[in-house]
Amino acid sequence: MKKQYTSYQETMAFLEQAQEKYPELIRVHSIGTTWEGRPIMMATLSANIETADSKPALLFTGTIHAREWIGNELAIKFIDNVLTNIDHNPSIQQALSRNTLYMVPCLNPDGFEYSRTHFSFWRKNRRDNGDGTFGVDLNRNFGVRFKRSADTTVNTYSGPAAFSEPETAAIRDFVLDHKNITIALDYHSQGNVFFPAHKFNHESEIEGTDLNVLCANMNREIHKVTGRQYGIHRGKPPTNLINGSGREYYYSLGIVSAVVEVGTRNIPDYMANMSQSVDENVPAVLYALSEAKNYSDEAPARVDNFTIESVGVYEATLCWDYPESDDIYFELYRSETVKSPCREDNLIAIIGKHTFTDVQLKSGQKYFYNIRAVNKVTDTKSPFSPEIKLKTQLSEDEYFRGLFPSKRGIGYVGQYTLEKNRDHFGYNSLFVGVNKRRGICYGVIAFNMENLPEEARIKNASFSLYPMNRVNAKVENFGEWTVSILDPSEISDITDFNQIHQAKPIQTLGDEIRSDKLTQGIWSHWDLNVAERRIIRKSIKNGTLLLRVEGPRKLPLGADSQMMQFDIGYGKFGSGIHYRPNLEVIYTLPSKQVELTPSSLSTVSKAEAKKNELQSGFDANGDVVYGQMTFLTENLPDPKKTVITEAYLTMSNDNALPTSQDIRFTIELAGLEDLDYESVKNREKKEFIGYEVSNAQLKDKNSHNFIFDSYCREALEDMHAKHAPFHFVVRSTSSSAEKNMLVNWHDLHSNNVCKLVIKYIERRKEPLPAPANLSVTLENRQVKLSWSNPKHADLVGAFVVRNRFHSPRSPLDGVKLYAGSDEYTYDNFGNPNVEKYYSVFAYDDVPNYSAPVSVYYSSEEVIPVEEEKYEKQEEEDDDEPLID
Ligand SMILES: [Zn+2]
Repeated sequence: MKKQYTSYQETMAFLEQAQEKYPELIRVHSIGTTWEGRPIMMATLSANIETADSKPALLFTGTIHAREWIGNELAIKFIDNVLTNIDHNPSIQQALSRNTLYMVPCLNPDGFEYSRTHFSFWRKNRRDNGDGTFGVDLNRNFGVRFKRSADTTVNTYSGPAAFSEPETAAIRDFVLDHKNITIALDYHSQGNVFFPAHKFNHESEIEGTDLNVLCANMNREIHKVTGRQYGIHRGKPPTNLINGSGREYYYSLGIVSAVVEVGTRNIPDYMANMSQSVDENVPAVLYALSEAKNYSDEAPARVDNFTIESVGVYEATLCWDYPESDDIYFELYRSETVKSPCREDNLIAIIGKHTFTDVQLKSGQKYFYNIRAVNKVTDTKSPFSPEIKLKTQLSEDEYFRGLFPSKRGIGYVGQYTLEKNRDHFGYNSLFVGVNKRRGICYGVIAFNMENLPEEARIKNASFSLYPMNRVNAKVENFGEWTVSILDPSEISDITDFNQIHQAKPIQTLGDEIRSDKLTQGIWSHWDLNVAERRIIRKSIKNGTLLLRVEGPRKLPLGADSQMMQFDIGYGKFGSGIHYRPNLEVIYTLPSKQVELTPSSLSTVSKAEAKKNELQSGFDANGDVVYGQMTFLTENLPDPKKTVITEAYLTMSNDNALPTSQDIRFTIELAGLEDLDYESVKNREKKEFIGYEVSNAQLKDKNSHNFIFDSYCREALEDMHAKHAPFHFVVRSTSSSAEKNMLVNWHDLHSNNVCKLVIKYIERRKEPLPAPANLSVTLENRQVKLSWSNPKHADLVGAFVVRNRFHSPRSPLDGVKLYAGSDEYTYDNFGNPNVEKYYSVFAYDDVPNYSAPVSVYYSSEEVIPVEEEKYEKQEEEDDDEPLID
């Protein structure tokens, strides 16, 4: 069906008709009057309009910026959808029975009409500023951090005073009058990104997880319709803070609040683009509406002290606090990436206890956990606890390295910026794609591979890039971005556009990212397959891994830019080491091998113990004759560094038994000192080694391997740690009574004497002792942490983590502040006025992390914070400033 944009007049007519037709579902009224005399229309939707104001509510505001027409269109489409489908769709019925929707399709009617009929890129309202200019940016006119600007001509002119405008005053009064509002969504364009609110204090907020999960779950709904995934970006220091915006005003009142930036243009082609944007957001708004109740006074309280009890190689135990109640159970969600949804398919436990062990995890991997309490009587859910992050331990044979490019090893090269390309390195973000000013641009990233041993066997490798949040990134729906490996020996200068442009990739990593999947504020990961890992291995020998990031190279008619920016984590535009591109590698080493010959052999029967001979079977009386072998471990390295990866016993037999009876031979790992018959018979059996061998197999061939399973390998390591010799017993079993049946295994003087073959790698197994004497002080308005590292030859350094809500018990569980060999660090980005926890872990070269030493910090005094430190500046050669 053909459709074009709706005017404000048509919007009002639509709302009034809807009210006439469905008076029990929708109520329409004006909350204020604009400078030009237009009413600001508010639609209230509820399954029972009489009780609407007593139910938890979602506030929807659209088109506060005149040229951002999506808000008005989406509201109309949503209302139409709800009214026509409520009788047939139980999820709409339920959402509107439990919650109320307050919808202002257009909060800036004057500006909207001005944009629609005259100046399409108009942003502000239509206040007469009295100096020949018009308009105030309404989204700079709210009362939180209102900043008066003198220049009335600019697009972001904030007005003479906070709430000086009839539009902002109207919505303020409505919100103050409706304490039932729990969630507020403000619809803007463009960027396909969520911007959850923040509190300007440069630390995580207790609602931070709620905001991310709400957006991620809305994202899931969007994805179902169009396959698109929006970015989720929450203020992180350093960041661009917006003064006087509605989002922060609502949040300051305790309302969970986010801006949704929709689409790739302010006023897109309706049929091609706008209809997609509208369709994908209708179910997302419905989802958000259904959550309003879960953030109300009727919802159960948030779970307290959600934290890690222990982390193993393949499992993790989490615990939390909650008042005892028969009405409450808990929902636990697990994901492998940040900002993931919490929905049915990653709900890993529904549980009444206050602890949970998650099993079957992968070694050395990151996991993210979320929890909420559910009241089963009222069917309401609590807000989320702050998310837990952890990394499982490496398995015994694994090493981990996280590699970052050096400053000189990362930058972008542009077709028309030839002489400046060198200066981009370590300074500008990675501009990748094409635009009219810079031409084709490639990102170039060189990793120094010398830190990895040449013989490393790579088990797992992944490359990650962080697409930055840019409202003006203007990535439209065409083209794709790829990462490929170049041959560094073919390129003499990585800052040379022509060399990078002409290079033939050795391999492209995994899948391309299509423009509609290139998500701002959410990491892009590439897990390397076996062929790619082989190239990585080769690059260790060459010393360098060189990557080229590329996007579209051509612009269609009417487009002037298709460019994504990726964070480099350096320089004043970067967001620090957390956002630096990285290559994470889990590897193992080829094992070494020792072949042990027995230090002694004997045959133990009821009658005697014969040294240096190895026989087993049955004696003349039918009693079992045991063969016994002892191996000494002195050829193995230090037990603390010996990881046995494979072990087997090779046994050769001289003869087989002249019988067709089924006689079988097994080998046991035995804890055995004495060699008399009674000791052997009553031996402490540790474990069987491998499968038994039958007499028929002895006839067939005369050499047999008994392979140790993982339990037996561990038993070997344990005995090695105790410097105990390895004792084995070979014995026979038969289902019939056998007499005088003896197999001769080779004796000590034979070349074919039994052998114990052990393959191992040398790697530390135990973590170091924890650091000590952790203290926290204030120095030059910064939090300073000091500690003592354990005195140990294998110490590599200390790893410092901050968490606002609980003591970090995994190095990943919080914001990383420092890793290195010093015994102090400053919390440069933290806010010294906010109480929080710090943990320090010691680590070795594997790395194994020690138990943490933790400290709680709070300050009585108020410490001034320098805002400039956090203010993010724009790229010098950026096209437009960042605004929303
Ligand atoms: Zn906007």
